[in-house]
Amino acid sequence: MGKNDLVNGKTKLIGLVGNPVEHSISPQLHNTLSMEFSKNLIYVPFRVEEGFLRDAVNGLRAINVLGFNVTIPYKTEIIGLLDEVSEEALLMGAVNTVKNIDGKLIGYNTDADGFLNSFIEETGEGFKDKNVLIIGAGGTARALAVKIAMEGASNIGIINRTIEKAQNIADIVNENVKNVVNTYNFKNLELTNLINKTDIIINTTSVGMYPNIESTPIQVDFRKDQIVYDVIYNPYETKLLSEAKKSGCKTVNGLGMLIYQGIKAYEVWSGVDIRNDLAAKVKNICIEEFK
Ligand code: NAP
Repeated sequence: MGKNDLVNGKTKLIGLVGNPVEHSISPQLHNTLSMEFSKNLIYVPFRVEEGFLRDAVNGLRAINVLGFNVTIPYKTEIIGLLDEVSEEALLMGAVNTVKNIDGKLIGYNTDADGFLNSFIEETGEGFKDKNVLIIGAGGTARALAVKIAMEGASNIGIINRTIEKAQNIADIVNENVKNVVNTYNFKNLELTNLINKTDIIINTTSVGMYPNIESTPIQVDFRKDQIVYDVIYNPYETKLLSEAKKSGCKTVNGLGMLIYQGIKAYEVWSGVDIRNDLAAKVKNICIEEFK
């Protein structure tokens, strides 16, 4: 599209529903993709106050948006407001992407796809027969545990401050995907033993996130053949990652996950199949803007 033609009578709208939304990089990401693919779409963030989610969703349906993303704090609440939800998103208990097909709203979860893409791209490894430790048992942990079990991990440990939340995820995965999850808490755990038998360690807690950049969820000696992934992307390198790097581990931050979940959502809305090289190009543009 030319400069005077950014929005016209045929422009379709994609929204972001959440609170807050002001920090989001999704508008830059999706509007960059629309320019790359010459798609007449525009992506706009909408801050939705508590108690207004139903009104917002009905409004988006009424004005016939192409779709929308859903972010904190509405990823679970949205499920009850949709016409259909993918089986995977139901297991994950969270929807971050909604597509509108002729007034029917269909929910998906692309967060775990984004994680998986970035993990494979940045480490060259997958999860088949791997021993994985997930730190944290919130919404992100649940989505990743479901995905990693689906990908064939041989064992998944979930360690969390509130053990009941870890057990809840374990029950969901063990009953519906594969019986591979065990739970631990920080107190009675022989952390060193657990870490020793782990191939891949993933932090899904917010510990270490800006402004608490001196915090780290676990303090252990890593082995250099271990991979350490932190879903946090601000700071770019958390304390956990910098310590793991000092031990020689391969480390990955959450920026790739964030970008690839968006790329996957864009594919859901627009029907385009974004080639790997183009996805990598868009990812690099976003990383440069973010740094
Ligand atoms: P959530 O559902 O609120 O879960 C937060 C988790 O962190 C819980 O397990 C919680 O433990 C734990 N936690 C929080 N403070 C802690 C502390 N001081 N000590 C020990 N554990 C603590 O949050 P979420 O939506 O899963 O998000 C978690 C992180 O993932 C955030 O940093 C978010 O920015 C990041 N994230 C990144 C991406 C990406 O694309 N890269 C996508 C989604 C989320 P309890 O259960 O004991 O409270």
